[in-house]
Amino acid sequence: MRLFPLFADLSGRRVLVVGGGAVAERKVKSLLTSGALVTVGTPQATDALEQLQAQNRIQRLHGHFHPDWLADLWLVVAATDDRELNRRIAELADAQRLFINVVDDPELSSFQVPSIVDRSPLTIAISSAGSAPVLARRVRERIETLFDHTLGSLATLAAKYRPAIRQARPELRPRREFYDWLLDGPVAAALRRQQPEQAAQLLEQALEQPQVTVSGKVLLVGAGPGDPGLLTLKALRALNEADVILYDRLVDASILELARRDAEQIAVGKIPGEDHNATQARIHALMLERAQQGQLVVRLKGGDAFVFGRGGEELEFLRQHRVPYEVVPGITAALACAAYAGIPLTHRDHAQSVRLITAHCRQDTMLEDWPALAQPHQTLAFYMGVSQVDWVARQLMDHGRSGDTPFAIIENGTRESQRVLHGLLKDMAQLARQHEIKAPSLLLIGEVTALAPTLEWFGASIPGH
Ligand code: SAH
Repeated sequence: MRLFPLFADLSGRRVLVVGGGAVAERKVKSLLTSGALVTVGTPQATDALEQLQAQNRIQRLHGHFHPDWLADLWLVVAATDDRELNRRIAELADAQRLFINVVDDPELSSFQVPSIVDRSPLTIAISSAGSAPVLARRVRERIETLFDHTLGSLATLAAKYRPAIRQARPELRPRREFYDWLLDGPVAAALRRQQPEQAAQLLEQALEQPQVTVSGKVLLVGAGPGDPGLLTLKALRALNEADVILYDRLVDASILELARRDAEQIAVGKIPGEDHNATQARIHALMLERAQQGQLVVRLKGGDAFVFGRGGEELEFLRQHRVPYEVVPGITAALACAAYAGIPLTHRDHAQSVRLITAHCRQDTMLEDWPALAQPHQTLAFYMGVSQVDWVARQLMDHGRSGDTPFAIIENGTRESQRVLHGLLKDMAQLARQHEIKAPSLLLIGEVTALAPTLEWFGASIPGH
């Protein structure tokens, strides 16, 4: 190990930054967050530095560098663009045993500033000892995605209750168990829900119990339309932490590959011959059983769980059985397919509203309001519509929508196999048949879809005229 990592307490300690440009400004700002007494030495400073000086938040030495500037310091940062000057400052600092960082110059530096993941008071610092800053940055990005932002509040809470925890759990092993529970259990969940008082209350209650029990819970997670890059960070974290993943048929295999290796994966889609209610009852029972065993259950659904995903029903069931849950939204097919087909869903000139509609309602008594759907200047997004294209086109035209209205059908949106078929409403049914459009496909109808041929950028496009 070439560099010894250390975290320095700079509060109330004098630090000099030589230089007054953008780089110096960045360094000054980050030093100020640690409470250091910052002095900036430079003939010319950026507006922001001038402002900090006017607010008395930094001290200022004017003119060119002078060796006297190094008196009474704890640290020096050289951020001038003059390498010879930086070298001279470094030599003088070394002679006085002052730690110096020359920005972007590991050779002249006796200390370096790491890349940081800030979940204060928890701080993760990464360094490649100046050999590969890009690598350090990559590692930082990865870590950034792994830990959510409530980790800081959790650390603060743990610090506050540390004496109480020590007192209630004098033995090491039960204490460790308690801390694990703190990180994984309902306290962290309450902080994620932005309910800090409840978090503290749960912690206090648990301290009074002789033992903590890790209770299960369900995360209802939207997996997006297929492209794993469209997962949210929260969804990715859920996949990393899951004990068991209950996934729908629509969830792409490449997304399941991102899950923790030893997480159990169970496909819970419809079994041939089974009706929807039976499928749903089976899923409910499985969620309940696993959560009651104390497992972290990730209920993974295509797109967003609350858009034609029966997410509401699943939550009602969980609430009824007092199983704790959290919901992570996903990118729904309409948003994703439109984006990947180059179709803006609204457009000042063409459409002022969007409607998400299920084409599956055909047998239902609750029929859509076709006269309203047939109005111009709106975008209609039909889900589950492949077998209904004839019917949808006919209904719209019968109710007054022009047969010359453009449409786009996006098949396997955001996936490698994406195809976009576009044409006019009057030809839609015939074109869909001719090109053998299959599920999953999203049906977009409205003026905006005419933009697809000009704005397209992804996958295959089939002009229907
Ligand atoms: N909850 C999901 C929708 C479930 S209904 C969501 O928010 O996206 C299933 C329908 O969604 C499919 O029949 C299809 O119309 C649409 N769909 C889902 N993923 C799709 C994809 N990758 N490409 C095209 N359509 C998709």
